Parts: sequence; C-alpha cells; structure tokens
Amino acid sequence: MPEGDSVYRQCKMLREALEGAVVESSDFRVPALATSDVSGRTVVAVVPRGKHILIRLSAAPDAEEMRSGAEPLTLHSHLMMDGTWRVFDRQRDDDAARPGDAHTTGSAAGENEAPRRGTGAAPQPGARGRGAARAASSAGGGTGSVRRSRPGASPYRPRARRGGSVRSAAEARTRISADVAIGQGSHTIRAILRTQDVEAVGFDVKDVRLVPTRLEDQELVGYLGPDILGPDWDLEKALERLSAQPDRAIGTALMDQRNLAGIGNVYRVETLFMSRTNPWARVDSLPEGKLREIVVLAHKLLHLNKDRSMRSTVGQAPQGRPLFWTYGKDGQPCRRCGTVLKRGEIDDALLTVDPAPSRTAVQHLRTIAWCPRCQAAE
Ligand SMILES: [Zn+2]
Repeated sequence: MPEGDSVYRQCKMLREALEGAVVESSDFRVPALATSDVSGRTVVAVVPRGKHILIRLSAAPDAEEMRSGAEPLTLHSHLMMDGTWRVFDRQRDDDAARPGDAHTTGSAAGENEAPRRGTGAAPQPGARGRGAARAASSAGGGTGSVRRSRPGASPYRPRARRGGSVRSAAEARTRISADVAIGQGSHTIRAILRTQDVEAVGFDVKDVRLVPTRLEDQELVGYLGPDILGPDWDLEKALERLSAQPDRAIGTALMDQRNLAGIGNVYRVETLFMSRTNPWARVDSLPEGKLREIVVLAHKLLHLNKDRSMRSTVGQAPQGRPLFWTYGKDGQPCRRCGTVLKRGEIDDALLTVDPAPSRTAVQHLRTIAWCPRCQAAE
C-alpha cells in the first residue's frame, strides 16, 4: 500500500522525467476531465503532500484555446490502495515492437507492493497505439515550437544518468506494452502526460483533478497536518494535533492525515510494535513522552525508506530476511518475544471526515498485526 515514502519516490521519478518539460499532449480518463487538455503547459514542479501527488503546470501559452482556464493548474492524484505513476521513454517507441527486446524493470512503485489487479487478458492495443497516434498528431499540430522552457536542456536524460537514485528514471522507464505483463492493463489508466521524451502514465490513481494552483490549499491539501517527509515538517504541531483528540485510539489517530500526513498502514503497524504500543490505546492513556517517541520513530522510518527500493523497518534487510517486524505477519511468532502475532481490525472510519471536497473511497476496516505481549493494553 502506498505510503508517504512511496509517494515521495513517485514524485522524485516524475520530477526527473517531467519538470521543465512542455506537455505535448494529455489524456485524462476520468469523466470530470474528459474534455480537459493541458498541452502546451510546462511542468513546473512535482510535489508530494502527504499521500497526494501535485503536478504543477504553468499557465496556458495560448489562453483562448484552453478549455480548462489559462491560469497555472495543478494536476492532483492520490495513490490510495494500488495506484501508481510510471514513466515511459517515448523515444524508444520506434523499436518497441522488436521481438526479444521486451525487458522491463518492473513497476516504478514496485517495492513490496505488487500490483494487485492482474488482468490476465491479452495486451490491449489501447494505450500505446493511441498514444503514438496522438503524439504524432500533436507533433504535427504546431506545438513543436514550444517544447521546453529551458532551451537546449533536456530535463530528462541528464537526470536519468545521475547515480545513486533508487528509482532512477532509467530504472523506471519501461515500455507501456510491458504493463500488461506485470498486471496493470491499459484499462486502469487514468491520466497520461506526454512530453517530447516521455510519457507519464497514472495507473489506477484516484481523485484525478485539475485545480488552479492558487487553490491547492483550499481545494486539495490545506486540511493536511504537517507532512512527515515535507520540508516544513513540524513535530510539535503534529503532537499538538494528535493530543487535541485525546479519546481516539492511537492507531487511528496516526493514520488521520489531518494530524500528520504520510503515515499509512505499514508504518502505523510497525511504529506501534517498535514502540510497544497497543493500537487501541487512547491517546491520553499513553505514558509520558510516548506520543513523541511514536511520532519521532515514524518520521525516522519514513526518512530511512524514502530512497530505498525495498521498504524495510528492520534495517538494511539482507536477502531472505523479513522486511518488517509485524506488518503482514499475523500468525507468526513475534521476533522479539516469540508470542504468536495476532490479527486485528482497526476502524479508520473517522478518516472519511474530509473537509476537502474529496470523493476518494476510504476503506474503513484495516487489518493490522500486533503482538499481544509486547503491545499489551495497559
Ligand atoms: Zn512480542
């Protein structure tokens, strides 16, 4: 399940691929945006906010031709349970059909989150064929003169060569035809942004919206608490918000993005185990300093993992070692005390109280694993 760290990595990949480039064509496959077109706009920034991805676009170069308003826009998407953005190299399209050259490096958000929706169906011609056709038509449509905001600089290739990036653009670039093989059919595509070099495709991303950038806070992310991976992370403010609802279970309070943004089920489960905290303990029942310890730990875990390809809370996990203490391990012995880990359900229903006009579906009951001994109720 995507959490703050995967959103961070996705944004890094998208930033390397898109920032500074002009959108040659766009394709939104959600009803509300069916007629929207952001071609001609430059991608000025790709920003993670909690678990939201904000792709900021410049004002339209030719306002009169734009249907969605001329001012700078933000393309919003949310990964929810199984959404992912991937970047494809358009320049390889020419030899894409060559047999025997069908290597792929896997999903950009792959990590330990295997795509769930296998299609099992034959590859659909939709995305690629259509993409190539549209790209060709847009290239001939007179947009060629406004390709880049930085003349002569390719926003993509030089960055792709930079070493050390866990999910480098090069690693992430695969051909769209490879998708079906890993279980993400073109029918799950919700948004496509094409630049001269790349095609960024949002599979199963939720709540795809175009909002004037000046209204980002108001319409999209203003309700979020301090962003655990953001430059403006504010521990005290997060603690203050958590403490403001003393009767909530710590397990649900941690997931409420209004308190702090970025924690999902994995980090909730792991943080609570590592800090020996019962998931259903009321916030005001925690021992002195415990709340701070929990949030500091979550912050540390997310930071440690933000540039890793394999998420792990047990240190640099060698091959074959478990990557988590308890997440997904109910029924197995606790790695600390040997007690069989329990499976529990925690109700995140309160999280649906979302002041932003969001239509995202939220799954209320989430499964968690916990140790009845290490995390016993007080
Ligand atoms: Zn234990």
